[in-house]
Amino acid sequence: MAELFNVYPLNDVEPVRALGSYLWDTKGDRYLDLYGGHAVISVGHTHPRYVQALTEQLNRISFYSNSVRIPLQQELADKLGEMSEHPDYALFLCNSGAEANENALKLASFHTGRKKVIAFSKAFHGRTAGAVAATDNKAIVAPVNYSEHVTFLPFNDAEAAQQGITDEACAVIVEGIQGVGGIQVATDAFLQTLRKRCDETGAVLILDGVQCGYGRSGKFFSHQFSGIQADIISMAKGMGNGFPIGGILISPKFKASYGLLGTTFGGNHLACTAAIAVLDIMRDENLIDNATRMGDYLMNGIRQIGGYKELRGRGLMIGIEYDFPVESLRNTLLYDHHIFTGVAGKNTVRLLPSLAVGQAEADQFLEALSVCLAVQS
Ligand code: PLP
Repeated sequence: MAELFNVYPLNDVEPVRALGSYLWDTKGDRYLDLYGGHAVISVGHTHPRYVQALTEQLNRISFYSNSVRIPLQQELADKLGEMSEHPDYALFLCNSGAEANENALKLASFHTGRKKVIAFSKAFHGRTAGAVAATDNKAIVAPVNYSEHVTFLPFNDAEAAQQGITDEACAVIVEGIQGVGGIQVATDAFLQTLRKRCDETGAVLILDGVQCGYGRSGKFFSHQFSGIQADIISMAKGMGNGFPIGGILISPKFKASYGLLGTTFGGNHLACTAAIAVLDIMRDENLIDNATRMGDYLMNGIRQIGGYKELRGRGLMIGIEYDFPVESLRNTLLYDHHIFTGVAGKNTVRLLPSLAVGQAEADQFLEALSVCLAVQS
């Protein structure tokens, strides 16, 4: 029997059906999903409008390459530009977060003619770092060989950024809220220093909004809290509510030319349909406001329960750090209370529910959490 390459530790649950914030397994047991498969489920599982849009599109045309006009791409660019308040930025579509970041770094390197990338401690930007560097084809230039050219500076340290970003840098890449790194919110002063140093040195400022973007923080992109403008913003995860799609929003100072970037699947009919449905639902159901409201509600409830070392986050991107490893707490939540949560490091529970999560679901979690912590102590 052929085996799957065994790289993922698995929870012992097999979801076969889902609706809103709930999943059902093979036995018909219901689970509350407060993780959304790494922040992917933005408008809720199998939202009827989303299912209808994709079903209708599937019956029309699902794919053709980027050698023909695909008006859905323009519709997506228009809606995204308007909702994210970047109407003058151009959109390049791809298939995942890592790919979005690779394209952002390539563009930065092409634009500046430099190779050095500044990233930050605990940052996570995806797993395809070697792909472009390993391509032996003169037509497909690999300007950034990450491992050789990346310098890591401490996150949220404006002083270190002031010193460390020099005119050798092609790009500074940073998450507005570090996800995998433990739900660390970038301070306004830190992001403003990055913007200032990029302006002074000519480096391109890339905001990785793959996890913290798309309304999750209570603004479309989390760095918008600090009032800075990014040069390139990457996105994926919540963009397609489970349909693989990623993209970068690109400031008007970058000029496009044929062949500069490219992809086979990026911007296909189905992916655009999924992404348009997500934006329409987010707008019509006021889901970004709901992220703020429900984020506050959850945070207040968690504060009242207490017992944690630090509570971090914004909107529906919440990290609860305890002074003990949370594996057993999360297993109890999953197997006894049927609630999916995520983790960052060993000690931080990571919550990334759908932006449509409601108060009853939040209460279900808060009650289970207080029971688990009472048993634990
Ligand atoms: N950037 C951030 C901030 C992420 O959290 C992730 C994935 O977790 C990625 C990039 C990579 O995205 P993908 O797994 O879609 O390639």
